[in-house]
Amino acid sequence: MTLQGFRGEILSLSCDPAEGPDPVRHEADGFLVIEDGRIAARGPFADVSLHFPGLAVEQLRGLIVPGFIDAHVHYPQLGRIASHGEQLLDWLERHIFPAEKAFADPVHAAGVAEEFLGELLRHGTTSALVFGTVHAASVEAFFAAAEARELRMICGKVLMDLGPEGLRDTVEAARAETEALIAKWHGRGRLQYAVTPRYALTSSDAQLAVAGELLAAHPGVLLHTHLAENKAEIAAVAARFAEAVDYLDAYDRFGLVTDRSVFAHGVHLPDRSCERLAEVGAGIAVCPSSNFFLGSGMFDFAQAERHGVRLGLGSDIGAGTSLSLLHNAGLAYQAGLPGGYVLDPFRALWLATGGSARLLHIDGEVGLLAEGQEADFVVLDDAATPLMARRTAGASLAERLFAMQTLGDDRAVRQTYVMGRCVWDRDTGHGHA
Ligand SMILES: [Zn+2]
Repeated sequence: MTLQGFRGEILSLSCDPAEGPDPVRHEADGFLVIEDGRIAARGPFADVSLHFPGLAVEQLRGLIVPGFIDAHVHYPQLGRIASHGEQLLDWLERHIFPAEKAFADPVHAAGVAEEFLGELLRHGTTSALVFGTVHAASVEAFFAAAEARELRMICGKVLMDLGPEGLRDTVEAARAETEALIAKWHGRGRLQYAVTPRYALTSSDAQLAVAGELLAAHPGVLLHTHLAENKAEIAAVAARFAEAVDYLDAYDRFGLVTDRSVFAHGVHLPDRSCERLAEVGAGIAVCPSSNFFLGSGMFDFAQAERHGVRLGLGSDIGAGTSLSLLHNAGLAYQAGLPGGYVLDPFRALWLATGGSARLLHIDGEVGLLAEGQEADFVVLDDAATPLMARRTAGASLAERLFAMQTLGDDRAVRQTYVMGRCVWDRDTGHGHA
């Protein structure tokens, strides 16, 4: 048995501030005790340390929060971040599809997967729901790299039998490859699978039906796709699925709207879609930096809250402009304001941690820094730059948190811990393990 003790300021949210009172759990001088990678105890140092006499104590400098959980990101698009000049459909054709073709090569996929996971940890992200490409090899490479780092990750092979030349599968290949990947990887260590049709337009009706069958046949597997991101996309979906009452309904007809369904974006949703999402317990990965970058629009937090839609936060790299969920939390605040919604910094932290965890059905394991959970956490530095130091000196907890979300990014992540092991240390440039 390995026992570790970490002392420092600790902050987490125990539920969505939009749903319940007093969700903030904060210890100004806290103690986190970790036994074999899991949190054995947490609370004020003065109290908890009494139960662990003789335990060596490591003092952490900064604000300890749960590891961030990215609810929507494409690892194969890492190298296409900051590609200029297009909205969604043209951006895909011009920048993304050519890059994804290279993932037929397992060596290329393995290299990018390594680089991507290193970047995630540097940004304080310890779990994510991740798109591969249409190639099964891309998912093999990703899972192998995540397993080697003992990360809690969810990924899936993209289904797209109507995709462009070189990025097209078939109905039967989609079924067979997905079944094989689920059998090999789902539930292996900390890894889980998501059935991943790219979006409504890139799959035939027959393939969308297969996706629904796969989801029904494998309880515990997620459904991960895109929804109502861009107006031209929505018009094209309406033209193809003329019988569907709205975009979400096009998925619903194939059994793809369930409590295990995670839809990225949902920028332009009719009230009916929000009602339906809330009714079944499906949710949205809000991706503000991507929505700004591609000119897609701004997520309507007020509408989602009115209907009680589950939300998490996603970077959506490569359309997103930062892997930092701190930075994306700050942009989520900016996305809410024009619609009259003032996103509280504690709720923004919830979206990036417990909210995403609940959306991804991993909230039993991570996201809350609660006793019994896996010890994935981040140490944030609210004085990471001279300007941040100036803004946060003597400030309240809410102000410090908001300043880190508005001004911070990977520079504000001093350390990242996975299962109690330090896997990234900003000040030394590497992990200890
Ligand atoms: Zn995406």
